[in-house]
Amino acid sequence: MSAANGRFAAVFFDLDGTLVSERTGVREARTSVGARLIELGIYRKPASAFADTIEMVIGGIMEDNDWQWPLWLHAEEWMKRSLAVEEIEVSEDEFAELNRVYRDERSDRAEAIHGWPEALAAARGHGPVGLITNFNDGPMQRQKIRGAGLDGQFDGVYISGEVGVWKPEPGIFLHAAEDLGVDPRECVHIGNNIQSDIEGALSAGMTAVLVEEDDRPRPDGLNGEVAWCEDLLEVASWLS
Ligand SMILES: [Mg+2]
Repeated sequence: MSAANGRFAAVFFDLDGTLVSERTGVREARTSVGARLIELGIYRKPASAFADTIEMVIGGIMEDNDWQWPLWLHAEEWMKRSLAVEEIEVSEDEFAELNRVYRDERSDRAEAIHGWPEALAAARGHGPVGLITNFNDGPMQRQKIRGAGLDGQFDGVYISGEVGVWKPEPGIFLHAAEDLGVDPRECVHIGNNIQSDIEGALSAGMTAVLVEEDDRPRPDGLNGEVAWCEDLLEVASWLS
């Protein structure tokens, strides 16, 4: 790890796996939908069986789409298809409630990763702080940001499902820099994914920092120009 060279016009962060961890939260949120169906008296299997059905439905859709998460695949869509597979009929109100249960549970279980206050404070010392995140469902991602307690921490939030461009396409990085009124060549992007975060940021002319996830060692073949940090505290000192 080397220290940051000078000041950046803006600092961007990735969200999932960089600032926020979900661990088992997604599975638990899906199981909670099954539990709500049982409470409503319209499901007679274990709650986890409905989570299995959701995962089977999503898996089938992913397979049909070359394992790329389709932009239209929001919770409402897989919820509707999963209910159809289980031959469960719900009212409009019940359907809305099931989606609310899923979103609330998932965002409640999203946890900001250790060291985030230090990393964001150090970033703030450079200039505006932005979030660039790959996720198709903007409202879900925004709710997760609130659930993790990161609401109000960013000058700009750029979600691929809303911008219409996914990392590593340079377009989403360029859009974010333009929106904050900064030159991308004077910005740094910090993330946990070599392709989407590192290759993406470099292709947009930004400096890139790879932050470790799950005790992964520094990857072989990582461009020598790319800074690698063990955790967000190390990101904070790199930025300071
Ligand atoms: Mg990530």
